[in-house]
Amino acid sequence: MAGNWKMYKTPAETTAFFEKFRPLVEKSEHCEVVICPPFTNLAAAVTAVKGSNVRIGAQNIAWAKEGAFTGEISGPMIAATGATHAIVGHSERRQYFGETDESVMKKTVAALAEGLIPIVCVGERLEHREGGKTEAVLVEQCTGGMCGLTAEQFAKVIIAYEPVWAIGTGKTPTTAEVAAAHAHIRKVLGGLMAEAAGVRLLYGGSVKDSNAAELLAAGDVDGALVGGASLKAAEFLAIAKAAQSG
Ligand code: PEP
Repeated sequence: MAGNWKMYKTPAETTAFFEKFRPLVEKSEHCEVVICPPFTNLAAAVTAVKGSNVRIGAQNIAWAKEGAFTGEISGPMIAATGATHAIVGHSERRQYFGETDESVMKKTVAALAEGLIPIVCVGERLEHREGGKTEAVLVEQCTGGMCGLTAEQFAKVIIAYEPVWAIGTGKTPTTAEVAAAHAHIRKVLGGLMAEAAGVRLLYGGSVKDSNAAELLAAGDVDGALVGGASLKAAEFLAIAKAAQSG
């Protein structure tokens, strides 16, 4: 169960969130809980969850280890904070910051090289779905973004299926549409390499406490990537609990 805080919260607000959230989840074992705050809050978040089962991730990662890349944050820098995961290729990064399947591939490899678990995001835009191109887009993104990985690397990767039209809109696909997309992703990855078919698949896009149980019960859903609803401790907790009953 992963929370993507996007560009919200200061370090002080991060600490305040975990003061409420941590006692509610720190011993939970039914699912892994990962929170991905902005880079500037990684250290505060790691400190706040020390000794608990909660893990911390970055929302992006540079494909280079170091160098003249103004404004970038590298894998070694993220790993040095104590974070364990990194979101790669979120649709907002693809839409506003020019990320491509090629950069997703390089960033995924960069994360794995530092022992970070990449949460690789794929998903179609509204015009793709309406034009019957969802499956073709998923083939393109999965193949382009992950074709170079080895079996050992695939074992560590998490994929989040996030239909772009469902992110932050309050709209969600039906459970049948989620199940079909997940089954398709598994088929595409299985075509790349048999071991890849076993990756963990999260659904993301307007997951809330009110719809989490239904979406998590859709076929082939191993968890959720939650944006807006992960900013509130009680709501994110309720979503994590839905994973328990699912
Ligand atoms: C996200 O940012 O990955 C996301 C799924 O956002 P939201 O839950 O707000 O739709």
